[in-house]
Amino acid sequence: MIPYGKQHITNDDIEAVIEVLRSPLITQGHHTVDFEKDVAKKIGVEWAVTANSATSALHIACLGLGLSTGDSIWTSPITFVATANCAIYCGAHVDFVDIDPTTYNICVKSLEEKLFQHQKQNLPLPKIVIAVHLSGQSCEMRAIKRLSTKFGFRVIEDASHAIGGKYNGEYIGNCKYSDITVFSFHPVKIITTAEGGLATTNDKKLAEKMKTLRSHGIVRDIDKMTREPHGPWYYEQVCLGYNYRMNEIQAALGLSQLKRLDKYVTIRNELANIYDKELSGLPIVLPKQNPDIYSSRHLYIVLLEDSTPPGKHSLIFNQLHQSGIGVNLHYIPVYRQPYYSRLGYKKENYPISENYYNHAISLPIYPTMSMEEQEKVISVFMKILNDKMV
Ligand SMILES: *Cc1c(COP(=O)(O)O)cnc(C)c1O
Repeated sequence: MIPYGKQHITNDDIEAVIEVLRSPLITQGHHTVDFEKDVAKKIGVEWAVTANSATSALHIACLGLGLSTGDSIWTSPITFVATANCAIYCGAHVDFVDIDPTTYNICVKSLEEKLFQHQKQNLPLPKIVIAVHLSGQSCEMRAIKRLSTKFGFRVIEDASHAIGGKYNGEYIGNCKYSDITVFSFHPVKIITTAEGGLATTNDKKLAEKMKTLRSHGIVRDIDKMTREPHGPWYYEQVCLGYNYRMNEIQAALGLSQLKRLDKYVTIRNELANIYDKELSGLPIVLPKQNPDIYSSRHLYIVLLEDSTPPGKHSLIFNQLHQSGIGVNLHYIPVYRQPYYSRLGYKKENYPISENYYNHAISLPIYPTMSMEEQEKVISVFMKILNDKMV
Protein backbone atom coordinates (compact mmCIF):
# COMPACT_ATOMS: atom_id res chain seq x y z
CA MET A 1 0.00 0.00 0.00
CA ILE A 2 1.28 3.48 -0.88
CA PRO A 3 0.46 5.44 2.31
CA TYR A 4 -0.98 8.98 2.30
CA GLY A 5 2.07 10.11 4.27
CA LYS A 6 5.12 8.79 6.07
CA GLN A 7 8.26 9.92 7.85
CA HIS A 8 11.78 9.94 6.46
CA ILE A 9 14.51 8.87 8.91
CA THR A 10 18.15 9.13 7.78
CA ASN A 11 21.35 7.63 9.21
CA ASP A 12 22.21 11.05 10.63
CA ASP A 13 18.90 11.04 12.52
CA ILE A 14 19.67 7.59 13.93
CA GLU A 15 23.21 8.64 14.93
CA ALA A 16 21.86 11.73 16.70
CA VAL A 17 19.41 9.61 18.70
CA ILE A 18 22.04 7.00 19.60
CA GLU A 19 24.37 9.73 20.84
CA VAL A 20 21.72 10.89 23.31
CA LEU A 21 21.07 7.33 24.46
CA ARG A 22 24.77 7.00 25.29
CA SER A 23 24.80 10.29 27.21
CA PRO A 24 23.88 10.80 30.89
CA LEU A 25 20.87 13.05 30.17
CA ILE A 26 18.01 11.48 28.25
CA THR A 27 15.10 13.60 29.48
CA GLN A 28 16.18 17.20 30.04
CA GLY A 29 19.48 18.44 28.70
CA HIS A 30 20.78 20.78 26.03
CA HIS A 31 19.00 19.14 23.04
CA THR A 32 15.52 20.30 24.05
CA VAL A 33 16.88 23.82 24.63
CA ASP A 34 18.83 23.77 21.33
CA PHE A 35 15.77 22.55 19.45
CA GLU A 36 13.75 25.47 20.81
CA LYS A 37 16.50 27.92 19.84
CA ASP A 38 16.96 26.49 16.35
CA VAL A 39 13.25 26.42 15.55
CA ALA A 40 12.81 30.00 16.82
CA LYS A 41 15.77 31.18 14.73
CA LYS A 42 14.60 29.37 11.63
CA ILE A 43 11.03 30.66 11.87
CA GLY A 44 11.95 34.19 12.94
CA VAL A 45 10.14 34.27 16.28
CA GLU A 46 11.35 35.20 19.79
CA TRP A 47 10.38 32.12 21.78
CA ALA A 48 9.75 28.43 21.20
CA VAL A 49 8.44 26.02 23.82
CA THR A 50 8.71 22.28 23.19
CA ALA A 51 6.05 19.82 24.35
CA ASN A 52 5.45 16.09 24.09
CA SER A 53 2.75 16.61 21.42
CA ALA A 54 0.94 19.36 19.55
CA THR A 55 -2.12 18.46 21.62
CA SER A 56 -0.21 19.30 24.84
CA ALA A 57 1.16 22.45 23.22
CA LEU A 58 -2.39 23.52 22.28
CA HIS A 59 -3.53 22.84 25.85
CA ILE A 60 -0.79 24.97 27.47
CA ALA A 61 -1.35 27.63 24.78
CA CYS A 62 -5.03 27.89 25.80
CA LEU A 63 -4.14 27.91 29.51
CA GLY A 64 -1.40 30.45 28.85
CA LEU A 65 -3.97 32.80 27.33
CA GLY A 66 -6.15 32.33 30.40
CA LEU A 67 -8.86 30.15 28.87
CA SER A 68 -11.14 28.72 31.56
CA THR A 69 -14.68 27.69 32.47
CA GLY A 70 -17.34 29.86 30.87
CA ASP A 71 -15.05 31.05 28.05
CA SER A 72 -15.36 29.89 24.48
CA ILE A 73 -13.08 29.27 21.54
CA TRP A 74 -14.10 29.29 17.88
CA THR A 75 -12.41 27.16 15.25
CA SER A 76 -12.91 25.28 11.99
CA PRO A 77 -14.75 21.95 12.07
CA ILE A 78 -12.43 20.57 9.37
CA THR A 79 -9.54 19.75 11.67
CA PHE A 80 -8.19 17.01 13.90
CA VAL A 81 -10.23 16.66 17.11
CA ALA A 82 -7.27 17.85 19.25
CA THR A 83 -7.81 21.46 18.06
CA ALA A 84 -11.19 21.51 19.80
CA ASN A 85 -10.36 19.15 22.69
CA CYS A 86 -7.68 21.48 24.07
CA ALA A 87 -10.38 24.05 24.89
CA ILE A 88 -12.63 21.45 26.53
CA TYR A 89 -9.67 20.44 28.75
CA CYS A 90 -9.79 24.02 30.08
CA GLY A 91 -13.53 23.79 30.78
CA ALA A 92 -14.30 26.13 27.88
CA HIS A 93 -17.01 25.88 25.23
CA VAL A 94 -16.19 25.17 21.57
CA ASP A 95 -18.06 26.73 18.67
CA PHE A 96 -17.40 26.10 15.00
CA VAL A 97 -17.30 28.48 12.02
CA ASP A 98 -17.90 27.00 8.57
CA ILE A 99 -15.03 26.72 6.08
CA ASP A 100 -14.13 28.67 2.96
CA PRO A 101 -15.26 26.73 -0.15
CA THR A 102 -11.94 27.19 -1.97
CA THR A 103 -9.21 26.90 0.71
CA TYR A 104 -11.16 24.69 3.21
CA ASN A 105 -9.75 26.86 6.00
CA ILE A 106 -11.97 28.80 8.40
CA CYS A 107 -14.09 31.23 6.32
CA VAL A 108 -13.18 34.76 7.35
CA LYS A 109 -16.47 36.15 6.04
CA SER A 110 -18.51 33.64 8.07
CA LEU A 111 -16.31 34.40 11.09
CA GLU A 112 -16.99 38.13 10.75
CA GLU A 113 -20.74 37.59 10.31
CA LYS A 114 -20.91 35.32 13.34
CA LEU A 115 -18.95 37.82 15.45
CA PHE A 116 -21.32 40.66 14.46
CA GLN A 117 -24.34 38.48 15.11
CA HIS A 118 -23.11 37.51 18.56
CA GLN A 119 -22.28 41.11 19.39
CA LYS A 120 -25.71 42.32 18.25
CA GLN A 121 -27.59 39.63 20.16
CA ASN A 122 -25.41 39.95 23.25
CA LEU A 123 -24.22 36.37 22.90
CA PRO A 124 -20.75 35.42 24.14
CA LEU A 125 -17.81 36.33 21.93
CA PRO A 126 -14.85 33.94 21.70
CA LYS A 127 -11.87 34.41 24.00
CA ILE A 128 -9.66 32.66 21.43
CA VAL A 129 -9.99 31.85 17.75
CA ILE A 130 -7.87 28.88 16.67
CA ALA A 131 -6.94 29.21 13.00
CA VAL A 132 -6.03 25.84 11.49
CA HIS A 133 -3.79 25.92 8.40
CA LEU A 134 -5.29 22.90 6.67
CA SER A 135 -2.84 20.91 4.54
CA GLY A 136 -0.18 23.60 5.18
CA GLN A 137 -1.93 26.52 3.50
CA SER A 138 -2.09 29.51 5.85
CA CYS A 139 -5.44 31.00 6.83
CA GLU A 140 -6.03 34.66 5.94
CA MET A 141 -4.14 35.87 9.00
CA ARG A 142 -4.23 39.60 8.27
CA ALA A 143 -8.02 39.54 8.22
CA ILE A 144 -8.19 37.37 11.34
CA LYS A 145 -5.80 39.71 13.16
CA ARG A 146 -7.97 42.70 12.18
CA LEU A 147 -11.07 40.96 13.58
CA SER A 148 -9.21 40.04 16.77
CA THR A 149 -8.46 43.71 17.43
CA LYS A 150 -12.03 44.72 16.67
CA PHE A 151 -13.73 42.02 18.76
CA GLY A 152 -11.08 41.52 21.44
CA PHE A 153 -10.17 37.88 21.05
CA ARG A 154 -6.75 36.18 21.07
CA VAL A 155 -5.43 34.07 18.19
CA ILE A 156 -3.73 30.66 18.20
CA GLU A 157 -2.53 29.21 14.89
CA ASP A 158 -2.80 25.44 14.77
CA ALA A 159 0.04 25.00 12.28
CA SER A 160 0.37 21.25 12.88
CA HIS A 161 0.46 20.83 9.09
CA ALA A 162 2.35 23.96 8.24
CA ILE A 163 5.95 24.13 9.49
CA GLY A 164 8.17 25.31 6.64
CA GLY A 165 5.26 27.00 4.86
CA LYS A 166 5.12 30.76 4.32
CA TYR A 167 2.53 33.50 4.55
CA ASN A 168 3.21 36.74 2.76
CA GLY A 169 6.84 35.69 2.23
CA GLU A 170 7.56 34.84 5.89
CA TYR A 171 7.60 31.56 7.77
CA ILE A 172 4.35 30.48 9.40
CA GLY A 173 4.89 30.54 13.15
CA ASN A 174 6.53 33.97 13.42
CA CYS A 175 3.35 35.08 15.26
CA LYS A 176 3.06 38.36 13.39
CA TYR A 177 -0.71 37.89 13.31
CA SER A 178 -1.27 35.69 16.36
CA ASP A 179 -0.40 35.23 20.03
CA ILE A 180 0.84 31.64 19.70
CA THR A 181 1.52 29.16 16.90
CA VAL A 182 1.59 25.41 17.47
CA PHE A 183 3.44 22.79 15.41
CA SER A 184 3.17 18.99 15.49
CA PHE A 185 6.04 16.55 14.97
CA HIS A 186 3.92 13.42 14.69
CA PRO A 187 5.48 11.06 12.05
CA VAL A 188 3.01 11.96 9.29
CA LYS A 189 3.71 15.69 9.64
CA ILE A 190 6.46 17.65 7.84
CA ILE A 191 9.30 16.85 10.28
CA THR A 192 9.10 14.40 13.16
CA THR A 193 10.24 13.73 16.72
CA ALA A 194 8.03 10.58 16.87
CA GLU A 195 5.57 12.22 19.28
CA GLY A 196 6.18 15.92 19.84
CA GLY A 197 4.96 19.46 19.49
CA LEU A 198 6.06 23.06 19.95
CA ALA A 199 4.52 26.46 20.61
CA THR A 200 6.02 29.74 19.37
CA THR A 201 5.33 33.27 20.62
CA ASN A 202 6.88 36.74 20.74
CA ASP A 203 5.58 37.31 24.28
CA LYS A 204 8.25 36.42 26.86
CA LYS A 205 5.78 36.18 29.76
CA LEU A 206 3.56 33.85 27.76
CA ALA A 207 6.54 31.66 26.85
CA GLU A 208 7.56 31.42 30.52
CA LYS A 209 4.01 30.62 31.57
CA MET A 210 3.80 27.82 29.00
CA LYS A 211 7.18 26.45 30.19
CA THR A 212 5.91 26.33 33.77
CA LEU A 213 2.64 24.70 32.71
CA ARG A 214 4.42 21.96 30.75
CA SER A 215 6.42 20.96 33.83
CA HIS A 216 3.99 20.48 36.75
CA GLY A 217 3.63 24.21 37.41
CA ILE A 218 7.06 24.11 39.04
CA VAL A 219 9.56 27.00 39.02
CA ARG A 220 13.23 26.84 40.02
CA ASP A 221 14.09 30.46 39.32
CA ILE A 222 14.29 32.54 42.53
CA ASP A 223 12.71 35.55 40.76
CA LYS A 224 9.58 33.54 40.11
CA MET A 225 9.18 32.15 43.62
CA THR A 226 6.69 33.48 46.14
CA ARG A 227 8.74 32.61 49.27
CA GLU A 228 12.30 32.54 50.50
CA PRO A 229 14.04 29.29 49.46
CA HIS A 230 14.43 26.86 52.39
CA GLY A 231 17.75 25.72 50.97
CA PRO A 232 19.54 24.77 47.76
CA TRP A 233 17.04 21.93 47.12
CA TYR A 234 14.12 24.32 47.04
CA TYR A 235 11.59 24.65 44.21
CA GLU A 236 7.99 25.80 44.15
CA GLN A 237 4.84 24.65 42.46
CA VAL A 238 3.09 27.92 41.69
CA CYS A 239 0.17 26.67 39.59
CA LEU A 240 -1.37 23.41 38.40
CA GLY A 241 0.77 22.17 35.53
CA TYR A 242 1.31 18.93 33.68
CA ASN A 243 4.12 16.63 32.60
CA TYR A 244 4.12 17.68 28.95
CA ARG A 245 7.88 17.78 28.38
CA MET A 246 9.64 16.68 25.22
CA ASN A 247 12.67 14.47 25.99
CA GLU A 248 16.26 14.61 24.72
CA ILE A 249 15.82 11.64 22.37
CA GLN A 250 12.92 13.38 20.64
CA ALA A 251 14.70 16.73 20.52
CA ALA A 252 17.87 15.19 19.02
CA LEU A 253 15.73 13.69 16.26
CA GLY A 254 13.97 17.02 15.79
CA LEU A 255 17.27 18.93 15.54
CA SER A 256 18.50 16.54 12.90
CA GLN A 257 15.22 16.63 10.95
CA LEU A 258 14.99 20.43 11.12
CA LYS A 259 18.07 20.69 8.88
CA ARG A 260 16.03 19.15 6.05
CA LEU A 261 12.86 21.21 6.57
CA ASP A 262 13.17 23.40 3.48
CA LYS A 263 14.18 20.46 1.35
CA TYR A 264 11.13 18.47 2.43
CA VAL A 265 8.78 21.36 1.69
CA THR A 266 10.38 21.88 -1.74
CA ILE A 267 9.91 18.20 -2.62
CA ARG A 268 6.31 18.28 -1.42
CA ASN A 269 5.65 21.30 -3.63
CA GLU A 270 7.22 19.55 -6.60
CA LEU A 271 5.03 16.49 -6.04
CA ALA A 272 1.96 18.73 -5.71
CA ASN A 273 2.82 20.53 -8.95
CA ILE A 274 3.01 17.19 -10.76
CA TYR A 275 -0.41 16.21 -9.40
CA ASP A 276 -1.79 19.63 -10.44
CA LYS A 277 -0.58 19.08 -13.98
CA GLU A 278 -1.38 15.40 -14.43
CA LEU A 279 -4.82 15.45 -12.79
CA SER A 280 -6.04 18.66 -14.41
CA GLY A 281 -8.30 16.92 -16.94
CA LEU A 282 -10.24 14.89 -14.37
CA PRO A 283 -13.72 15.69 -13.05
CA ILE A 284 -12.32 16.79 -9.68
CA VAL A 285 -11.51 20.03 -7.88
CA LEU A 286 -7.75 20.48 -7.39
CA PRO A 287 -6.35 22.32 -4.35
CA LYS A 288 -6.16 26.08 -4.92
CA GLN A 289 -3.33 28.16 -3.49
CA ASN A 290 -3.73 31.82 -2.63
CA PRO A 291 -0.93 33.84 -4.27
CA ASP A 292 0.48 35.19 -0.97
CA ILE A 293 0.92 31.65 0.36
CA TYR A 294 3.64 29.04 0.09
CA SER A 295 2.10 25.84 1.47
CA SER A 296 4.13 23.13 3.16
CA ARG A 297 1.84 20.72 1.24
CA HIS A 298 1.34 18.37 4.16
CA LEU A 299 -1.77 17.06 2.37
CA TYR A 300 -2.85 17.01 -1.25
CA ILE A 301 -6.64 17.17 -1.06
CA VAL A 302 -8.91 16.81 -4.11
CA LEU A 303 -12.69 17.03 -4.14
CA LEU A 304 -15.01 14.99 -6.32
CA GLU A 305 -17.46 17.16 -8.24
CA ASP A 306 -20.65 18.30 -6.52
CA SER A 307 -22.69 16.26 -9.01
CA THR A 308 -21.07 12.99 -7.84
CA PRO A 309 -23.87 10.60 -6.83
CA PRO A 310 -24.04 9.70 -3.12
CA GLY A 311 -22.15 6.52 -2.35
CA LYS A 312 -19.62 7.01 -5.12
CA HIS A 313 -17.16 8.78 -2.80
CA SER A 314 -16.92 5.74 -0.60
CA LEU A 315 -16.80 3.40 -3.63
CA ILE A 316 -13.84 5.32 -5.09
CA PHE A 317 -12.07 5.11 -1.71
CA ASN A 318 -12.54 1.35 -1.64
CA GLN A 319 -11.30 0.90 -5.18
CA LEU A 320 -8.21 3.01 -4.51
CA HIS A 321 -7.44 0.99 -1.38
CA GLN A 322 -7.94 -2.26 -3.31
CA SER A 323 -5.44 -1.00 -5.89
CA GLY A 324 -2.86 -0.26 -3.17
CA ILE A 325 -3.38 3.49 -2.93
CA GLY A 326 -3.71 4.51 0.72
CA VAL A 327 -5.94 7.55 0.35
CA ASN A 328 -7.41 9.13 3.45
CA LEU A 329 -9.94 11.78 4.47
CA HIS A 330 -8.92 14.86 6.45
CA TYR A 331 -11.17 15.28 8.35
CA ILE A 332 -14.50 14.01 9.58
CA PRO A 333 -16.03 17.34 10.73
CA VAL A 334 -15.43 17.53 14.49
CA TYR A 335 -19.12 18.31 15.25
CA ARG A 336 -20.01 14.91 13.73
CA GLN A 337 -17.98 12.98 16.33
CA PRO A 338 -20.28 11.25 18.84
CA TYR A 339 -18.67 13.14 21.73
CA TYR A 340 -19.35 16.49 20.07
CA SER A 341 -22.78 15.70 18.65
CA ARG A 342 -23.85 14.91 22.23
CA LEU A 343 -22.94 18.51 23.02
CA GLY A 344 -25.64 19.64 20.57
CA TYR A 345 -23.90 20.72 17.33
CA LYS A 346 -25.99 20.45 14.19
CA LYS A 347 -24.51 19.63 10.80
CA GLU A 348 -27.13 21.84 9.11
CA ASN A 349 -25.17 24.84 10.39
CA TYR A 350 -22.08 23.87 8.37
CA PRO A 351 -23.14 23.30 4.73
CA ILE A 352 -19.68 23.93 3.23
CA SER A 353 -17.99 21.54 5.67
CA GLU A 354 -20.67 18.93 4.94
CA ASN A 355 -20.12 19.27 1.20
CA TYR A 356 -16.36 19.03 1.73
CA TYR A 357 -16.76 15.91 3.86
CA ASN A 358 -18.85 14.23 1.17
CA HIS A 359 -16.28 14.82 -1.58
CA ALA A 360 -12.74 15.11 -0.18
CA ILE A 361 -9.89 12.67 -0.79
CA SER A 362 -6.28 13.08 0.43
CA LEU A 363 -3.88 11.57 -2.12
CA PRO A 364 -0.49 10.20 -1.00
CA ILE A 365 2.27 12.81 -0.65
CA TYR A 366 5.54 12.48 1.29
CA PRO A 367 9.18 13.45 0.66
CA THR A 368 10.46 9.97 -0.23
CA MET A 369 7.65 9.33 -2.72
CA SER A 370 9.27 7.95 -5.89
CA MET A 371 8.30 8.89 -9.44
CA GLU A 372 7.01 5.34 -9.93
CA GLU A 373 4.82 5.59 -6.84
CA GLN A 374 3.34 8.91 -7.92
CA GLU A 375 2.80 7.62 -11.46
CA LYS A 376 0.94 4.65 -10.03
CA VAL A 377 -1.30 6.91 -7.91
CA ILE A 378 -2.03 9.10 -10.92
CA SER A 379 -2.73 6.27 -13.35
CA VAL A 380 -4.92 4.28 -10.94
CA PHE A 381 -6.85 7.39 -9.91
CA MET A 382 -7.41 8.37 -13.57
CA LYS A 383 -8.55 4.88 -14.45
CA ILE A 384 -11.01 4.73 -11.58
CA LEU A 385 -12.45 8.16 -12.36
CA ASN A 386 -12.52 7.85 -16.18
CA ASP A 387 -12.82 4.21 -17.11
CA LYS A 388 -16.13 3.50 -15.50
CA MET A 389 -14.56 1.09 -13.06
CA VAL A 390 -17.12 2.63 -10.75
C1 LIG B 1 -1.71 16.22 14.11
C2 LIG B 1 -2.58 17.36 14.51
C3 LIG B 1 -2.78 17.73 15.83
C4 LIG B 1 -2.25 16.93 17.00
O1 LIG B 1 -0.91 16.70 16.91
P1 LIG B 1 -0.19 15.70 17.94
O2 LIG B 1 1.24 16.11 17.87
O3 LIG B 1 -0.43 14.32 17.41
O4 LIG B 1 -0.79 15.90 19.27
C5 LIG B 1 -3.53 18.85 16.11
N1 LIG B 1 -4.10 19.57 15.11
C6 LIG B 1 -3.96 19.23 13.82
C7 LIG B 1 -4.59 20.07 12.76
C8 LIG B 1 -3.22 18.10 13.47
O5 LIG B 1 -3.11 17.74 12.19
